Amino acid sequence: MTKDCVLVINCGSSSLKFSLIVPESGKTLLTGLAERLLSADASIRINLDGEKIIDTLPAPYDHQSALSHLVSFLYEHKFEQRLLAIGHRVVHGGENYSQPEVVTEVVEKMIEALAALAPLHNPVNLIGIRAAKLAFSHLPQVAVFDTAFHQTMPKTAYLYGLPYQLYAQHSIRRYGFHGTSHYFVCKQFAKLNQQAMEQTSVITAHLGNGCSIAAIEDGKCVDTSMGLTPLEGLVMGTRSGSLDPGIVFHLCRQLGYSIEQVDNLLNKESGLLGISEISNDCRTLEEAIEDEDNAQANLAMDIFCYQIAKTIASYSASLTKLDGIVFTGGIGENSSLVRERVVNRLKLLNVVMDDEANSATRFGNSGNIAKDGATACWVIPTNEEWVIAEQTYQLINEAN
Ligand code: AMP
Repeated sequence: MTKDCVLVINCGSSSLKFSLIVPESGKTLLTGLAERLLSADASIRINLDGEKIIDTLPAPYDHQSALSHLVSFLYEHKFEQRLLAIGHRVVHGGENYSQPEVVTEVVEKMIEALAALAPLHNPVNLIGIRAAKLAFSHLPQVAVFDTAFHQTMPKTAYLYGLPYQLYAQHSIRRYGFHGTSHYFVCKQFAKLNQQAMEQTSVITAHLGNGCSIAAIEDGKCVDTSMGLTPLEGLVMGTRSGSLDPGIVFHLCRQLGYSIEQVDNLLNKESGLLGISEISNDCRTLEEAIEDEDNAQANLAMDIFCYQIAKTIASYSASLTKLDGIVFTGGIGENSSLVRERVVNRLKLLNVVMDDEANSATRFGNSGNIAKDGATACWVIPTNEEWVIAEQTYQLINEAN
């Protein structure tokens, strides 16, 4: 049997997402998700050949149980014989990693140390790496960092207006996230427009439950909207995005909030959910606008779209040319309404929408939704798993 697949693992605090991918073609052989881990109703869903197989997980209902279940499944279907390596999504690579790395003890220690910058993500990413090492001790494990693509940003873009010592001694700076997604859609844009990625300058908007925008000059990231943490930048599903830091003092001093309560408020109770008081989900808000003309849902969407447009426009200070704008992520790929409201605010950048193309380009289709002669404006479905599989494959080939 030919060894031609990479297992991609994306570990969250109570979930484990996985896919089995042929890196050369991007063909996905299976996908799946283990959810509600660490609770007694933990379950695992595997999608194979259009069929959904759902099982409950045995105690201790953890990431290791989920991986053991997956390993049995892979053996049962003889996929294990095709495995080349395991690729892991790791959220924070700090300044240490601008490229993927084969996981060694040193790399593991570094991911652990970087947990100071990503306490919610790096420790669970490590749990996934360690569980996969136990399950597949004979295979190389590769870490692909969400921050890596943004490491080309200049100091002008990544330093905050804080005392320099906080950067020099404590690494406080902008790192950015969703790097694999911004990289992928930029590469796809170049391919679709028959130009080299090294000569491609675009603004990419990854709009999902988490949202970020990147300015990319000649294939390299020069600025991005997320910061030290994924909280900065745009209004998101439940995150506030950027706000006056004075609000934090006000909440604590005047309203008696604790640090934990502020953290929860800004990360989990704000954004589209907080403003609309209905939902963090774009689809639900669109329905509320369409079915009941709901004013608060409409306001939340307007604030969301205004911030996206404002950030895109602000990157005209970061780029020397603009080949196009790219929308991706669950909202960017599917919501014609969001794209319309954003683009309608970008007339000064000569972005003019073709309404028919905008309505038609959804549900996995790629396409330019701008009018002829206007700045190109593409919808390109992202595929972070494929990037992780591809980079894992390249790295283990180089190492051999
Ligand atoms: P992601 O985090 O990339 O999976 O994106 C999740 C977001 O995409 C949620 O806010 C969804 O409501 C939104 N989304 C997914 N499908 C659609 C759709 N058909 N129309 C509008 N929004 C969508």
